[in-house]
Order: sequence, then structure tokens, then C-alpha cells
Amino acid sequence: MDIIMADIRKEFQFPVLFKECSIDLSNFYDPGRRQYNANELLGKVAELSSPNALKTIGLFKVDLFIPILTYIFGQAFLNGNTGIVSLYRLRNEHYGLEKDEKLQLERFKKVIIHELGHSFGLTHCHNPVCIMRSSTYVEDIDQKDHHFCHTCKSLLDEKRRELIGSNKHKRL
Ligand SMILES: [Zn+2]
Ligand SMILES: [Zn+2]
Repeated sequence: MDIIMADIRKEFQFPVLFKECSIDLSNFYDPGRRQYNANELLGKVAELSSPNALKTIGLFKVDLFIPILTYIFGQAFLNGNTGIVSLYRLRNEHYGLEKDEKLQLERFKKVIIHELGHSFGLTHCHNPVCIMRSSTYVEDIDQKDHHFCHTCKSLLDEKRRELIGSNKHKRL
């Protein structure tokens, strides 16, 4: 988490805090799909997020779904305060491949930065290596960098200036 947090800090130029929290996940389990309802979990994260936090991303290890998709790696509200990301489908073992801790953390970091990007108002980008490119499969995540392309970076900088200017500069 320390490495991930340092990279997130670098991308967004805001302080990053990591906090452990316990949630009874059984309330979010859908027995029909044998997965966890991401929309409801997102609501829970919003409920638990600190009022001092500019953005909050809930990190999970369970299989997440939204009704229209088979699974999701993560999701966040566009221009919102909260998002969620799960490690579940980012692990090689999930695909019958050999465990690769470094790779799974790299993927985890990329999905977190991507979802945070949405929370800062960025939409999907067509640049093949930009972190804001959409990913359906882990291979798509592997092809991206964990950085924003030039265009996304300038949109993000604009957003940062707005946030700092409006004196709403809080902790990420
Ligand atoms: Zn996205
Ligand atoms: Zn981009």
C-alpha cells in the first residue's frame, strides 16, 4: 500500500491516507450472482467516508458486479467523492495463471488511479497507454501506463486549480 499510495500522491498532488475499516459484507452479497453489489457498496463507502476527505476509494477483495455487467474492476461517480476498487479479478490466480504479486499490485494501483480520475471529472480516453483508457480485461490494464496522457493531465490540473481555488482543498 505504501508504494501504491506514493504513486497516487505523485499523480494527483494531494496527500493520501490509508485507513482500515471493517464492513459486514454479507449485506451486499447477491446469492443469485454469487457476487457483491458494487452500487450498494459504493453507497456504504460514501456513508463511511470522512467529511474531511476530498475523495474516498473503498478497496475490496471480493467479486464486484453492477446489474448491467458481468463484473467490474472498480467504479466511481464522475465528479463525485467516492469510488470502489476490488483486487478480486486482478489476481493471476483468478485466470488459472501463476500468482504474480507485483503484477496484481500494479493492476490494483492502475484501477485506483483510473477511478480517482473519474472522481476528478475525467471520462474515458482513447490514448492507448493513458490510465483513463477503459479496461474490460486485465490485459487491457496491463497495456496502460499508470499515468495520465497529456490531455487528461491538463484537465486534471485544471480541476486541481479549481478545487484549491475554491478553498475546498481537503485530504484525498
Ligand atoms: Zn472507467
Ligand atoms: Zn488520456
